[in-house]
This record gives sequence, C-alpha cells and structure tokens, in this order.
Amino acid sequence: MKLGYYSNTTHFDHDVGDMHPEHPMRIIAINHQLERLGIFHDVYKGGEQQIVRQDLLRAHELGYIEQLQTMSPANGSILASIDTPMAVGSLGVAYKAAGCVVEALDDLLQNKIERAFCAIRPPGHHAEKNKLMGFCFLNNVAIAARKAQQVYGLERIAIIDFDVHQGNGTIDILANDPAFLICSSFQHPSFPFSHWRNIYANVINTPLNGGTGGLEMRRAVESQWLKQLQDFKPQLTIVSAGFDAHTDDPIGGLNWTESDYAWLGSFLSAINKEGSSNKILAVLEGGYNLDALAASCGEFITAFKD
Ligand SMILES: [Zn+2]
Repeated sequence: MKLGYYSNTTHFDHDVGDMHPEHPMRIIAINHQLERLGIFHDVYKGGEQQIVRQDLLRAHELGYIEQLQTMSPANGSILASIDTPMAVGSLGVAYKAAGCVVEALDDLLQNKIERAFCAIRPPGHHAEKNKLMGFCFLNNVAIAARKAQQVYGLERIAIIDFDVHQGNGTIDILANDPAFLICSSFQHPSFPFSHWRNIYANVINTPLNGGTGGLEMRRAVESQWLKQLQDFKPQLTIVSAGFDAHTDDPIGGLNWTESDYAWLGSFLSAINKEGSSNKILAVLEGGYNLDALAASCGEFITAFKD
C-alpha cells in the first residue's frame, strides 16, 4: 500500500504556552518516531495545500467562520472557549491543518496513495457546526468527509473515532446522514459530556468505563463495529486518530497500550479488504504524553499502512 504523510511546520504558530498539553512538540515527537521506524523511507509527503472557503462551508456555518475571524487576536492570545486558547497565529494554523486533510483526501481519491496519515494540530473532532471547544476550531474530519460525499460523490463513508473523548463535533455535523457510518469509542462519563446513547441511526457510540483496558476495547469494537462496517462496505474510511486512551496519557483515563493501537490499525486495514476500495484517511486528534503518543502513532501507522 502506498502511504501518504501530511504535515507542515506552520503548526508552530499555534503556540498557547508550554503548559498547555496541546503543544507543537507533539508533532515533533511523532516525526522522530516515524523516522526511527524507517517509515519515511517509502512515503509520499504532502501538507502544504491551502484550504478554500467552499471546503469549510460544507461542514461549518458561514457565521461561525466569520466569528472565528472576528475573535482571532491581533497579538497575544485569548481564551476562545473555557478550554480552548487562541493565539495570534492559531486560526491560520487551523486553516492549514484543514487544508492538509483535504489535500490527503484529494490524493487518496485521485489514486495517488492508498493510505494517508495527517499529523496536524490543532485537533478537530470536538468542533461542531457552529461551536469551538476542546482545543478544536475546525472539524478536519467532517470537512474531508463532506468533500468526499459532495464533490467526489462517495455514498458510503465510515468515520472511526478512537480518541478517549467522544467526537461530538463530528456527530453534530454528520448525524442522520446515511452516507456516513460513525463509530466512536470513548471514556464515559468524561468530556465532552454530550449524547452518548445511540440516538442517531448512523452513529454507534461505544462508551467505556474509566480504566478500561485494551482487551475489553477490542471485544467491544469487534462486537459493536465489525459487522456494521462490513455490511456498510465503506468506499472510504476516515479516522479520528486520537492516542489519549493510552494508559500513560495525562488527560485520558483508559488503560490502552501501543499494541492496542497496532491492533486498531490492523482492524481498520482489514475492513472491506475484499472490496475494490480500501482507502483510509487517518487524522491526528488527541494524545498528550509525548512518548506514548509517538509510540502509539508509530504502531498504528505501521499496522494500517499494509
Ligand atoms: Zn481526546
């Protein structure tokens, strides 16, 4: 399988202080690990594409985008929501991150590559149609999903979210649209404290008690997602790849290890393997212990790229 890796150095401009867990060293740690694993030897590298307004507006309301522009500080930083600082360069970085993911989508659907990993920040899966929260401004995954549907005409797109937090933003944007099957595992109860019962026809929520380990997660994924995904026959799978369910993560409260992310990578790679299309676009979300993030990410990419 040909792997594409999408990242850029613009993310350094989204700097909200060393004390904030969502900081630029996260991407550096991932890059070092992939270098060590030799993954960069045979990879297509991208990440410089600019987002266009049309792409944003398939997932977010115009008023919300205008609100982000209005609140973006001319210098220093502000608290854009209770948990989301916004520095002078943050919005530009968020645009660049979304552009990165759309570039990866374009390359996948134009058959340049078969797997893509986007090492981007800020994350996106908490951003709703018209609300920022949880370190997220723009919902990168939903922006790509809507373009895949509305521009490329895909009719079955699976969204997998294994971040320790529920992808409430992705659900807000894509719920009740049968073109999408959203499978989301998350610690419960925990942030973002939104709907966790299965109230939407196209959303499978998999809440996990604090302390849940990898074996229990694997059992839940196999029993709750596997058949649904096989029956759905996705033409494209988009992954909210958060690594904050790792046992060493300072924010999450689950007990997964690197090997569980390798298992998830293999699990996703095997979905629809017999079908004509098995394209996977994985997008970085959370993960705040640098060593655990780098190791988990390395294991996941190693497993999902083949
Ligand atoms: Zn998270």
